[in-house]
Amino acid sequence: MALSQPWIDHFFVGPLQQRCSVVTDPKTGDTIIIDGGDEPERIIAWVDGFQGAGPNWTTGPQHADEASDLPQRKVVALVNTHAHFDHSGFVPVLRSHYGVDWYLHPDDNFLQSLAQSSGRRYGLNLPEPAVADQAFEAGKTYSFGSIELHVLHTPGHTLGGCCLLIPADDGPDHVFVGDTLFAGSVGRTDIANSGGDFSVLAHSIHSQLWPLPEDTVVHPGHGPLTTIGHERRTNPFVGDDAGAGGTFGFGKYA
Ligand SMILES: [Zn+2]
Ligand SMILES: [Zn+2]
Repeated sequence: MALSQPWIDHFFVGPLQQRCSVVTDPKTGDTIIIDGGDEPERIIAWVDGFQGAGPNWTTGPQHADEASDLPQRKVVALVNTHAHFDHSGFVPVLRSHYGVDWYLHPDDNFLQSLAQSSGRRYGLNLPEPAVADQAFEAGKTYSFGSIELHVLHTPGHTLGGCCLLIPADDGPDHVFVGDTLFAGSVGRTDIANSGGDFSVLAHSIHSQLWPLPEDTVVHPGHGPLTTIGHERRTNPFVGDDAGAGGTFGFGKYA
């Protein structure tokens, strides 16, 4: 069953201000953490007991006393859009704290094995990289407790990049896109060891994201929220007016 309205906490974490999203079913308390890239202590303190600095913004309670009518949150899974270190570097800390499985598309397993050395180039001291417990499968719907999550495999930024769709019964659906799509931009396709390719990225967006309902809320890995309809109309790289004759001259995928 889809959620009526998910409770979503957004934490911008680490030097690259990566969006870590915590999604909770307010009816059951079941919770998943998407892209636990950094600042695990801050996330754990808020999820477990509304302590500490908290999220940058939330659709849920702002303080512990506002949550008195909600069930205690229970983290049931850790999931990732892709394996760049800013998204996955501190998953090991969350995994050992919560004792739940971590899900990643297997085409990013090699990239994940490099997280520690990639982070070092940014002066970060990351733990030994996590190895995924479960392999995301393209097109499959997962039930994490009472949270339903549909996996869209969207390579182009990385080989195993996925967009994670959480349907809602009451209000728009939510899609967590990692670095595949941003408000007014798209993910880089030139990062080492990632298998990036612009034409593959554009095809992923055109074939997997544009068919979603226009009002679907897009949660990118960096920067502000947007919607599928807004990006489809205005995105200069992959929107309907991009491509041949468009500002950037990329070929438009038929
Ligand atoms: Zn990335
Ligand atoms: Zn990123």
